[in-house]
Amino acid sequence: MEQIFAPWRIDWVERDSEKQPIDGCPFCVLSERDADRESRIVARSEHSFALLNNYPYNPGHLMIIPYRHVGDYTALTRAELLDHARLKQVAIDALHDGLGPDGLNMGMNSGEGAGGSIDDHLHTHLVPRWEGDTNFMPVIGETNVIVEAVDDTYERLHEGFAAHPGAIVDDAESDDGDNAEQAVEFAFDLTTDDTA
Ligand SMILES: [Zn+2]
Repeated sequence: MEQIFAPWRIDWVERDSEKQPIDGCPFCVLSERDADRESRIVARSEHSFALLNNYPYNPGHLMIIPYRHVGDYTALTRAELLDHARLKQVAIDALHDGLGPDGLNMGMNSGEGAGGSIDDHLHTHLVPRWEGDTNFMPVIGETNVIVEAVDDTYERLHEGFAAHPGAIVDDAESDDGDNAEQAVEFAFDLTTDDTA
């Protein structure tokens, strides 16, 4: 996979080092904070959450992550598996509705040898793709432009999640989701027909 310039990375490095240093596993720390917009958590369900990647390959690069700190996919319970899969489905819809990509890459790095940066708390990547997107982002030097870009991405995805059937959005927020401070919530039916 060819790497593109990622201006969002700068914003996240500054945020984490100067404002709220992350001590411990970033996925555990961020999901336990009550500051979803700042943490870039755009959706939550009973066992999982959707987080904008701080090292994105493309705008809208999401990770779907179980709350439980577990690195082995085979260790997920049935409820965690189904919840994770349902949130992934909704995230695919939200990415299409919010950002209109030409396609998506989905995948997971499992184990130290696979190249992931955080290998003890599993996460599935959802990467929106556009035709010719290795040349998609021009180099942008202005910090305020970078912040607006990631805020805009958060806004678009929040609206995409909020438009999905079953979405639970805080009533205190404006109807169109502008400046939403908390993630869109989902309560999936995790019952299954089989008993295996
Ligand atoms: Zn963790």
